[in-house]
Amino acid sequence: DFTPPPNFIRTIIAEDVKANKNNGRVVTRFPPEPNGYLHIGHAKSICLNFGLAAEFGGVCNFRFDDTNPGKEEVEYVDSIQADVRWLGFDWGDRLFHASDYFEQLYQYALQLIKAGKAYVCSLSGDEIRQYRGTLTEPGKDSPYRNRSVEENLDLFQRMRAGEFEDGAHVLRAKIDMASPNLNMRDPVMYRIRHLEHHRTGDKWCIYPMYDYAHGISDSIEGITHSICTMEYEDHRPLYDWFLDELELECHPQQIEFARLNLSYTVMSKRKLLQLVQEGHVTGWDDPRMPTLAGMRRRGYTPESIRNFCERIGVGKKESTVDIALLEYCIREDLNKKAPRVMGVLNPLRVVIENYPEDQVEELEAVNNPEDAGMGTRKVPFSRVLYIEKEDFMEHPPKKFYRLSPGREVRLRYAYYITCVGVVKDEKTGEIVELRCTYDPETRGGDSPDGRKVKATLHWVSAPHALQAEVRLYGHLFSVPNPADEKDGLDFKTHLNPKSLEVLPSCWVEPSLKGAPAGSRYQFERQGYFCVDPVDSSEEKLVFNRTVTLRDTWAK
Ligand code: ATP
Ligand code: MG
Ligand code: MG
Repeated sequence: DFTPPPNFIRTIIAEDVKANKNNGRVVTRFPPEPNGYLHIGHAKSICLNFGLAAEFGGVCNFRFDDTNPGKEEVEYVDSIQADVRWLGFDWGDRLFHASDYFEQLYQYALQLIKAGKAYVCSLSGDEIRQYRGTLTEPGKDSPYRNRSVEENLDLFQRMRAGEFEDGAHVLRAKIDMASPNLNMRDPVMYRIRHLEHHRTGDKWCIYPMYDYAHGISDSIEGITHSICTMEYEDHRPLYDWFLDELELECHPQQIEFARLNLSYTVMSKRKLLQLVQEGHVTGWDDPRMPTLAGMRRRGYTPESIRNFCERIGVGKKESTVDIALLEYCIREDLNKKAPRVMGVLNPLRVVIENYPEDQVEELEAVNNPEDAGMGTRKVPFSRVLYIEKEDFMEHPPKKFYRLSPGREVRLRYAYYITCVGVVKDEKTGEIVELRCTYDPETRGGDSPDGRKVKATLHWVSAPHALQAEVRLYGHLFSVPNPADEKDGLDFKTHLNPKSLEVLPSCWVEPSLKGAPAGSRYQFERQGYFCVDPVDSSEEKLVFNRTVTLRDTWAK
């Protein structure tokens, strides 16, 4: 019942292929900067670039846009590759690095200097900004704008040779200080940074700026469609300018689309890094983070994320997608795949008075009602059980149909039980145990006399159950647009103080013994959970709640 929404980029590429543009070839690329972990916004770009290439028989390059050594780290390089692979995409031998083009980029810069299209400017960063002007005011020419080609060549070569301090000079494109597009007012192409690069070491102390490096990298790799987010729309004239001035044979077409924003979270690496560094989360892979590492740890499947990316469509208009849609996608996937088990999060002890003291039965339970092929399993039943605290009320209001004194309910796959007594803590008055009886005729969950009960509860057998810690997650932020509040407050003031609830002593059925890290289950009536791949162990099971069962997505 699902038709993918329109994707205008698909339409453009289809027309290009039909017109035999680029000889019908399609080459896209995914160009992350290794300055943080990938988030769900990147997933949209990955699905788009790899997806369209596959669809049109083309290829997608994986390129590290590693031109800014100040912020880049090997940890990020590794995590990014692992995350793209996990999401289900394979770049084969098409792994590239912008840093591999440093020499070529340098040679092209020399070419632009010789053509009188670039010059070394010795204004400070602040001065360059002042000279640039504003949207309503034209910029002023730098006093260094008319340096001779010889002087520019000499200075630029000495910049490369390391003769100058950081900030002493930059190389700028010579375009138009009166252009209505600020990006065209003699943008900086190179700056001096005496920094180690994780791949080129100390070979370079000048590094190219994004706008200069990106288009040329695309061209070197023979990219046909360079897909990026809307904030680069105003940079497109510059992207084209470099390629035109250098008369490069391959001139890719830049196409911009609206980036993904998701409610109740933030989606910028800079902000996510702050959350990590300031300890608001446990790391980039904290299950509350919108990172792929966080979502994987929380129990999201790659399929559910790819499906989400398909459903949200591709357009040019900025919008915020309801996080409930993402939750809908994972629920839909896990409903098909996740085996059902019983786990009690807030246990209340139940003693079945008329059940023999040392009897144990193995009852048959269905693994997945959506998929008969997943078979059945045995669940032990005995005299002492745990049920969920919230499934009992001593003085139930009208619409409460679960267990209460004198009331009969069904235990899933087991028996009908009736509550015949309540044991309270003498001091606190808190209910610590229920006394119940069972009807042996109702084994399996049906009564031969056709007697109806209004509720079916999940449960575990106390002596057989495994203790587990369960972590429940809420939204990371308590407002829908934390980064965009008009209240002038820092986005972190909107962090949800209740985004994590830890339940230290839950009980789960014994079939979960040895459950592998990352494996996913539906705890009946509670939601979908996965074994935490970091903190769970043989001795102590730890589960993350991926998502609740209730769907809040308005279709
Ligand atoms: P951030 O703003 O989170 O730091 P970025 O754009 O600086 O992201 P890059 O590493 O440059 O991060 O991103 C790699 C690719 O992913 C780029 O092509 C970029 O356009 C795309 N991308 C990044 N964020 C989003 C998003 N929210 N939605 C869609 N695509 C995105
Ligand atoms: Mg970027
Ligand atoms: Mg960035």
